[in-house]
Amino acid sequence: MGEGTTTEARAREALLRRCWPDGTRACPRCCAASPYALAEGRLRCGACRYTFHDFTGRWLNLSGLSPAQWLDLAQAFALEASTREAAHAAGISYNTAFKALTVLRLALLAQGADARQLLGPQTGLDTMFTGGKLCPAPAEPTGNFPVYGILSQGRRVFVDLVPELTVESVLHFNHNFHLRVARLGNILLTDRYKTYDALVLCGDERLPYHYLLRHQGHPFAETGCPFWIYASQRLRQFKGLSTRRFPMYLKELELRYNRRGEDLLPLFLDALCAQVPTSPAD
Ligand SMILES: [Zn+2]
Repeated sequence: MGEGTTTEARAREALLRRCWPDGTRACPRCCAASPYALAEGRLRCGACRYTFHDFTGRWLNLSGLSPAQWLDLAQAFALEASTREAAHAAGISYNTAFKALTVLRLALLAQGADARQLLGPQTGLDTMFTGGKLCPAPAEPTGNFPVYGILSQGRRVFVDLVPELTVESVLHFNHNFHLRVARLGNILLTDRYKTYDALVLCGDERLPYHYLLRHQGHPFAETGCPFWIYASQRLRQFKGLSTRRFPMYLKELELRYNRRGEDLLPLFLDALCAQVPTSPAD
């Protein structure tokens, strides 16, 4: 075997151990155990006749990357490499890396306790992975511009979708209750609101930024919000920041912030090996 083949075989083994921790395969559709082997690594379920392979239905299968490319990409991403650097590390094109990192970000978001809500129609993320593929043109979120709340607890931070709030309510609080709002490109960030340290949303050219009332002082000037200082520096680096991609970036930064100093690679690989939910209700 050549060196490349050995690397691929090792990478595949590493991912298989995460997909099937005890080595026994089960049907991804009906969970029946003991599928029988067909040619070329395919398996067939004896109960429902479904034909699958080891990575069927898992996040990593939404992209055409080989196991070794996934490992290299995830390792670079764990070290906060840019998309260009991660593409170089994995030996793939920029566009392929951009799509694969979108898969990884969705996979990470899907691990959270709030995944069902975040992968629902309100954010529009549910339409990004349909029919076992990453969708090139997902639908606009029905929530228009979803509003997120930032909540700190000690060294940890939580970013929640706040479904009852809209961009109109944020503008209303700004005008009538003097809630201070700062703008960072298309992002609006408010001062403290109820239990939240801040509310944040990402708009686009449809959002009436000119309507904002400017108040004296910048939000957090007195209180400070360590997470936002951490996040805003990184958000500036992201290409393709949009209303739809915003929750993926927010949740990625929440995770990086809460686990700063830790090795993120095992977590990233576990997320990639998890099953893609087939509908938000799963
Ligand atoms: Zn089955």
